[in-house]
This record gives sequence, structure tokens and C-alpha cells, in this order.
Amino acid sequence: MSEPAAPAAGRAGMRKELPEHFRDYRNVWVFIELERGEVHPVSWELMGEGRKLADKLGVDLCAVVLGQKDEATRTAIRMTWAYGADICYICKDKVLADYRNEPYTSALTGLVNAYKPEILLLGATTLGRDLAGSVATTLKTGLTADATELEIDHEMSLAATRPTFGGTLLCTIHTLNFRPQMATVRPRVMAMPEPDMKRPSGRSVWYTLGVAEDDVITKVLEFVADATTNDVNLAYADIVVAGGMGLQSAANFKLVRDLAAVLGGEYGCSRPVIQKGWMPSERQIGQTGKTIRPRLYIAAGISGAIQHRVGVEGADLIIAINTDPQAKIFEFAHLGVVADALQVLPALTEAFAKRLGRETRILEEA
Ligand SMILES: Cc1cc2nc3c(=O)[nH]c(=O)nc-3n(C[C@H](O)[C@H](O)[C@H](O)COP(=O)(O)OP(=O)(O)OC[C@H]3O[C@@H](n4cnc5c(N)ncnc54)[C@H](O)[C@@H]3O)c2cc1C
Repeated sequence: MSEPAAPAAGRAGMRKELPEHFRDYRNVWVFIELERGEVHPVSWELMGEGRKLADKLGVDLCAVVLGQKDEATRTAIRMTWAYGADICYICKDKVLADYRNEPYTSALTGLVNAYKPEILLLGATTLGRDLAGSVATTLKTGLTADATELEIDHEMSLAATRPTFGGTLLCTIHTLNFRPQMATVRPRVMAMPEPDMKRPSGRSVWYTLGVAEDDVITKVLEFVADATTNDVNLAYADIVVAGGMGLQSAANFKLVRDLAAVLGGEYGCSRPVIQKGWMPSERQIGQTGKTIRPRLYIAAGISGAIQHRVGVEGADLIIAINTDPQAKIFEFAHLGVVADALQVLPALTEAFAKRLGRETRILEEA
């Protein structure tokens, strides 16, 4: 199980100290989350991170693709080579057509027991969290949920860091005596790598699932998309405008939505705004909300508490608007405006509307 890091002096030679039956465990695996024909982008983000870990360990990077026999599964396999896989473990079965915990847990634990990875990474999505928990408990190994940083320490052990105590501290968790070392990572925490479409294919390993449809208790009768959350693309938006308690009322969030609309971006907010009922929960940004990595993040009336900061610090450019020059957000914003957001937001909306409108006309005339 996961244990806190022991002092380095007592743990020289991590691999040698592993119980005999775990010494063969090698390679870094990434679970490729394929649902309804689409690979979740977090899987490719994890391939990028997995590559770094595998290189440090001097082992192979492996992808695991579970799905039915269709074009989407074939495409997902092809993409694993482009994102750096040396080996792709594949299980194709009609029982795996829709995600259900039982057959997916059976397939993934079966693969782990057969091919013994030392590290197994999954996206901290709804599906990934569900699967990671049942795989870790079935295998009786440790799982660090919602890791924000992955490293290989000097003893070749996975050091998975995540916020703790309400985000006020970061703790680094090691799985010392069990394998694989498992972690989930939320979308957008890791950078998206560039695929190399010319990269040659690696080795494919096919796995046969011994689960019949009759053995699976859960049946998918119908798929109903969540109408609200599916419309919100905060995590992958290039431009995000967000408001905090400094906006003072639900009505004032129109100013945030207007600026986001003019810039062609998404809008979000801090957690207390959700608690007030001023915005729906899928708009929350931060440790317990969405992690974002936009090219531009405009934060209006947000103090910059650590729980908010961890969700936005991957942004390329952070512009903060706050009346308090001592606000924490100015410690990590790239540009700061000490002013009333209720005045600055509409002024920005007007200025961008004019500027972008003029550029559109120029483009139309050209
Ligand atoms: C376990 C846990 C998880 C959490 N998860 C999250 C999370 O995911 N996301 C998150 O955001 N928070 C989270 N929080 C809450 C977090 O600690 C802060 O309380 C929260 O981020 C503060 O929100 P805020 O900045 O909007 O409000 P406040 O802290 O009240 O700040 C409002 C800011 O607005 C400024 N202001 C006031 N009037 C104006 C004006 N007219 N114009 C411009 N500026 C103005 C003020 O100077 C102030 O800096 C979490 C807390 C805990 C304990």
C-alpha cells in the first residue's frame, strides 16, 4: 500500500529490497482511455510524462488499449506509436465496447499480472478514477490519486506528489513494497506532447479476455450525454476568463461571460462562487475543480489562494485584476491590474470587440 517516503538512508537500492515476487516488474504503462470512439486527451498527456519516467528508468513505455474491434480502437493503437509507445498491449472484445468496471478491471488486472509493469498511470477522469480504484484494490497495490507531479527518485521509485490537507501542503507518496506503482493524473496537469506521425510502430501484444457477456452484471441500455458538462470545454480552452468573489453578485458574472465570448474563450470561477450558487459547478477552476492550461487566463476578483493557483499555473499568460495590491494572485500572475474588475472587464470587452471587429472587417476586405 502507499506509504510516506522513508528517510533515504534506510532505503538504498529500492529494486533489490522489493519482495522476490515483485522483482520482475518492469516498464511504464499508460492506460489509453477510449470511450465512445474517442481517446481522452489526458491519455496522450500521460504518454508524454510516461516517456520521461521510462527514459529515467531505462525501460520501455507501453500503452494499454482496451476496446471493441472497430476503427476507433485501430486508430487509438496507431496513435500510441505516434505518442511514443514502444509496446502496445491490446485487448479487443465486444464485452469492452462500452466502459463497465467489471470487464475493464478484469482486462487490466489480467494484463498487469501477465506482463508486470512497475508503473501504471491513468487519467483522473470519471472513468479513470473508477477503474484505477478497482484495479489497485484487486491487485492490492498503492494508488496515488490526482497526482500533480511524477518523478523517479534516486532509488528508482515513483515519487507521486499531490496536494494534501486541503491543498495547503504537498505530499510525495511512494509505493514501496507493492507493484505496480499506480497514479492517476487530472487532465491538463501534464503538458500535451507533439505526436510524431512518422514514428515507426512498436511491438503489439494481444491479450484474450476470458469474460463472457453473461458474466457481466452491469448492462448498458442507453447512453445519455450530460447536456451541460459536455458543453463546457474549460480544461482544453485556449482562452479562459474567470471571476471570483470580488465580482460581488451573480449578475456581475455577465461581465465575465461577455469578455470570454468576445475573445472566443471559455469562462470559469473560483470555488466560493459555486458555493454561492452564482455559477454551475462544472465552471469551477482549481484543485477541486478543473485544471486549465490556456494560452491566456484572465482572473478577475480572485485572490489567488493555493487551491485556485494549482489549477491555473500551467497557463502561458495570467492576467490578474484585483483591487488589493497585496493579493496573492499577483505573486504568480504575469500581468497585474490593480483596479475594480467591474470597470475593467466591460472596458476590455469593448476594446477587444472593437479591435477584433476591425480585424474581421480587414480580413473580409482582403
Ligand atoms: C479543500 C479545499 C479545496 C478548495 N478548492 C478550490 C478550488 O478548486 N478552486 C478555488 O478557486 N478555490 C478552492 N478552495 C477555496 C480557496 O481556499 C479560496 O477560498 C478561494 O479560491 C477564494 O475565492 P476568491 O478568490 O473568489 O474569493 P476571496 O478569497 O474572497 O477573494 C476575492 C478577491 O477579490 C478582490 N476584490 C474585491 N472586490 C474587487 C473588485 N471590485 N475588483 C477586483 N477585485 C476585487 C479581493 O481583493 C480579493 O482578493 C478550496 C478550499 C479548500 C479548503
